[in-house]
Amino acid sequence: MTHHPAEKNPDQPIWRCAVPTPLRRYFDYRAPADWHGTALPGLRVQVPFGKRLITGVLLSTASESTVSDTKLKSVSEVLDTEPLFTRPLLALLTWASGYYHHPVGEVLPLGLSPSERRGRAERGTDIAALTLTKKGLALPQNAPHRAPKQAALIAMLRHGTTTLSDLTQSGFSRPVIRALIDHRLAKETELSQTDRWCMRSTPLPPNSEQQSVIEKVTADAGKFAVHLLHGVTGSGKTEVYLQTIAACLARREQSLVLLPEIVLTPQTLARFEARFDAPVLALHSGMGDLERDRVWAAARRGKAAIILGTRSAVFAPLQHLGIIIVDEEHDAAFAQQDGFRYSARDIAIKRGQLEHCPVLLGTATPSLESWYNADKGRYHCHQLTQRAGQGTLPSQRQIDISGLDLSAGLSAELVEKIDSTLSAGHQVLVFLNRRGFATALVCHDCGWTSGCPDCDARMTLHRTPAGLHCHHCDRRSSLPRSCPHCSSRRLAGTGIGTQQTEAFLNDRFSAFPVVRVDSDTMQGRESMPNLIKRLSDGEPVLMIGTQMLSKGHHFPHVALVAVVDADALLFSPDFRGGERLLQLLTQVSGRAGREEVPGEVLIQTRHPDHPLMQQLAGPYDKALPELLAQRQRGGLPPFGALGVIRCDSQSRQEGLDFLEHLKRDVASTKSCQLIGPLPAAMARRKSRYRSQLVLTASSRAALAASMASLVNVAESKRHSHRLSWSVDIDPYESL
Ligand code: ADP
Ligand code: ZN
Ligand code: ZN
Repeated sequence: MTHHPAEKNPDQPIWRCAVPTPLRRYFDYRAPADWHGTALPGLRVQVPFGKRLITGVLLSTASESTVSDTKLKSVSEVLDTEPLFTRPLLALLTWASGYYHHPVGEVLPLGLSPSERRGRAERGTDIAALTLTKKGLALPQNAPHRAPKQAALIAMLRHGTTTLSDLTQSGFSRPVIRALIDHRLAKETELSQTDRWCMRSTPLPPNSEQQSVIEKVTADAGKFAVHLLHGVTGSGKTEVYLQTIAACLARREQSLVLLPEIVLTPQTLARFEARFDAPVLALHSGMGDLERDRVWAAARRGKAAIILGTRSAVFAPLQHLGIIIVDEEHDAAFAQQDGFRYSARDIAIKRGQLEHCPVLLGTATPSLESWYNADKGRYHCHQLTQRAGQGTLPSQRQIDISGLDLSAGLSAELVEKIDSTLSAGHQVLVFLNRRGFATALVCHDCGWTSGCPDCDARMTLHRTPAGLHCHHCDRRSSLPRSCPHCSSRRLAGTGIGTQQTEAFLNDRFSAFPVVRVDSDTMQGRESMPNLIKRLSDGEPVLMIGTQMLSKGHHFPHVALVAVVDADALLFSPDFRGGERLLQLLTQVSGRAGREEVPGEVLIQTRHPDHPLMQQLAGPYDKALPELLAQRQRGGLPPFGALGVIRCDSQSRQEGLDFLEHLKRDVASTKSCQLIGPLPAAMARRKSRYRSQLVLTASSRAALAASMASLVNVAESKRHSHRLSWSVDIDPYESL
């Protein structure tokens, strides 16, 4: 339904709308000529924008506009009878747009499901499921010619209709599901959400430390409070989450659980489903739009009891929010690092405040920010100091490898230890945070290295499949047989990656299975659950992998964790470098000794005297006062506020000039300093030049004010369309 200009009614009020454009402002329209209802904030509207009609959101009304009456257009259509945004969610999104200086029209759609963003109606809350057709049911039990995955799916569906998310959790990919539908062996159907919100299994009796957190968090029901749960790895934090959620469930309030990564979802989801006989719904980027639409509706209509999601689920609409839990709150995955840059953990805290519910941050390695807030009494801090169940914390030792001969990065002592651990029948985890075979290919005659043509980075040498791969822009090329510069054949890899260590371990420990765990081998969501299943019988297995191994997984039978190259993390120029090293190594060490087998951690370093290596030897929280003191000396977060304007341009000079102009227009003040413009640590990436202007301020308010004036100037500056800029408040990385 489109309105002609003639239908414009000058008596109608002005509607101030957010529309999805990169402009940081609202747009005025006149209410539709025939509109007599209440103009509720949050209603979606179709509005003319240029030559198109787009979906915007009504935010407020006004009697006058700065736009002249002749230019003022009318809203074409009102899409909703009641807003799809709850009031607190609308408030949260507008707050986030202001806090992060990001266009409101691009932030608001995050509170909508994919098809709602495109202007469609809310979908039903029933869940998509798959069921066998008559033809499928009639198949003989073991149809021989079917692909094994399809046969397994048919076998599973024989037990009954299964939801699509359960199928993906069980490792059935979309193509497999599609194939059965295409062959008319199965069809999509709908299951309604259960109305039961009950327990399926009885909780473990909590120990006294767990009991105390559960009581205190539950006592804060209905009001805002932040609880930091610092529990050593394996101390039963998840059990605490389950029991606080049980209390919410009993009050029929919804729980929102944020997890850092997609790989965490299947294992955790299974644990939640085993505990609760209630709708537990996952929300992550691996899901299709249809599935997301339904989860969104179920959450909004109060049908979902528990939402388990990754970063962007912090914007899921919820009717009666009882608690927000952020697991592994220190994790970098909560920081959205492109486009609209935000911290899902920080937004969760703001949301708790707006929704009047407690927020529980759990981790074995608190971020300095959260630790500081707890120390200042802004957060309640709880400790779980013991491993729950049978586990004990592993012992730790460093191996000084300076001057030693290494095989694929491993010292003789380490190889010896791996040998004795495997021979004793235990599992071993070798940690090396570099995938590929070697970090670069080098010519021994002229010194040529395999630089990426599009980035200021070296292309990594891969063996399986063979080739060069840039981990920054994804460019791949074949392996040169001779040096492109001097034609020498003396090319060799430098810097060891997981593939190289894997090859060595395979060779040396041929009697044991060696599994490589990195993003090259763990594609999709299938592999991690499979690996965990494979490890669960406790047979000796040797794992070699990257930080993917450090992420909260419960490997019950790992007795030895070996850190191949702690030094690679030791000299990071970023202000979070030290914090990240301690978190990563504490987390990876935490994979050892989680059940009966006592754990041991060996760390190879050439710098055993480095302060960070010394701190690593003690408990994690002992290191924090010194790290905080360093931040304080540098005026860095959590003491000072930090913001960055990042610029991306076709030529190096263009970006630097743009930022230089901004800087000239907005003077430094006593409370806010401008640093730069400077090229980013990786100045060129994907053929684009990256530069930045850093703001440091003594307070958030000072930062917000200076950033607002910079953004104002930037918006009004004409620049080439090949240049783009963005704002990063509380950046995770400052380089
Ligand atoms: P975290 O989340 O801190 O890593 P988990 O909640 O996964 O720890 O608990 C680690 C192990 O200890 C799990 O096997 C869990 O079942 C067990 N566990 C947790 N709490 C208890 C308890 N109160 N009594 C017995 N076992 C427990
Ligand atoms: Zn050469
Ligand atoms: Zn590249």
